[in-house]
Amino acid sequence: VTVYERADRPGGLLMYGIPNMKLDKKYVQRRVELLAAEGVTFVTGTEIGKDLPASKLKEENDAVVLCGGATLGRDLKIEGRELKGIHLAMEFLSKNTKSLLDSGHQDGAFISAEGKHVVVIGGGDTGTDCVGTSIRHKCASVTQFEIMPKPPEKRQPNNPWPEWPKVLKVDYGQEEAAAVQGEDPRKYMISTKKFVGDENGHVKELHTVLIEWKKDDQGRFVPVEVPGSEQVYPAQLVLLAMGFLGPENPVLEQLGVERDERSNAKAAYGRFVTNVEGVFAAGDMRRGQSLVVWAINEGREAAREVDRYLMGSSNLP
Ligand SMILES: Cc1cc2nc3c(=O)[nH]c(=O)nc-3n(C[C@H](O)[C@H](O)[C@H](O)COP(=O)(O)OP(=O)(O)OC[C@H]3O[C@@H](n4cnc5c(N)ncnc54)[C@H](O)[C@@H]3O)c2cc1C
Repeated sequence: VTVYERADRPGGLLMYGIPNMKLDKKYVQRRVELLAAEGVTFVTGTEIGKDLPASKLKEENDAVVLCGGATLGRDLKIEGRELKGIHLAMEFLSKNTKSLLDSGHQDGAFISAEGKHVVVIGGGDTGTDCVGTSIRHKCASVTQFEIMPKPPEKRQPNNPWPEWPKVLKVDYGQEEAAAVQGEDPRKYMISTKKFVGDENGHVKELHTVLIEWKKDDQGRFVPVEVPGSEQVYPAQLVLLAMGFLGPENPVLEQLGVERDERSNAKAAYGRFVTNVEGVFAAGDMRRGQSLVVWAINEGREAAREVDRYLMGSSNLP
């Protein structure tokens, strides 16, 4: 088994997405070393589709499993987006971890939040990791924008058990920001209209409006701007954490793998085989951004399906 990885360390988002304080990289490294000792070859710094054509993998191997993740970040293409100091969350998080692991941050090869007013756009888990990382960099302040309304603190009558509880979550990033700044960093129902820069082309402020969610004539909730709610937030660092759009690389096209309606690799859960003979897909690349437990589950089950494909039967669970 050969694992190709474009980054310089294997492990995917467990290595370079999830920050070290949430998942200590020594555990990820320990697992990689166990797999290597079992005979798996890791080839890092090699991007399939660029450094090595996907067709070559297909020619040289009996089966190919696509596990490239769903790392295409949603951008915010508004006025001023080209200014310096505005980054996708993953650029901020991955450079931070790489520099931490390479040199304990001594090489300076990361985007520092130190002394800066930081605005994180996006109220999900990736945004929370940006808040927690900015606090550790000793930012001057951190604010997290969320487009949705603030959830209630307790379950509402229309959201009974055993449904997923739609209640306010306070994660470690918000807890830490509240401890340092005196309040929860989140602002709700806020939309950024434009970024404004200084004379050096560096972002200096965000111009925002508040929104309300109203039903349109087809009964769908749409955001409507609240007149007179314009505000200006000073910021020298803006991090875009508005979710992920799907797999980002050309491997699926090169192999002719069909995609589902959300642009992920199309392969049924449990079988993991794509429309291309001998090509399987698993993890975030098949199901979209998800959780580590699902990546582990799909990886193991896909291994069983590959074994069955190659050997005719499998003893794997
Ligand atoms: C910021 C962040 C925080 C998260 N926190 C949590 C958490 O706390 N708990 C949790 O359960 N889940 C968390 N997740 C989700 C979890 O990390 C993912 O669901 C999981 O890592 C998916 O695993 P995967 O192997 O399918 O894909 P990935 O982990 O995305 O790995 C895909 C790998 O493929 C490589 N790759 C892609 N294309 C190519 C190519 N063409 N050639 C070579 N290599 C390629 C990528 O570089 C990457 O290393 C988080 C995600 C993010 C973004």
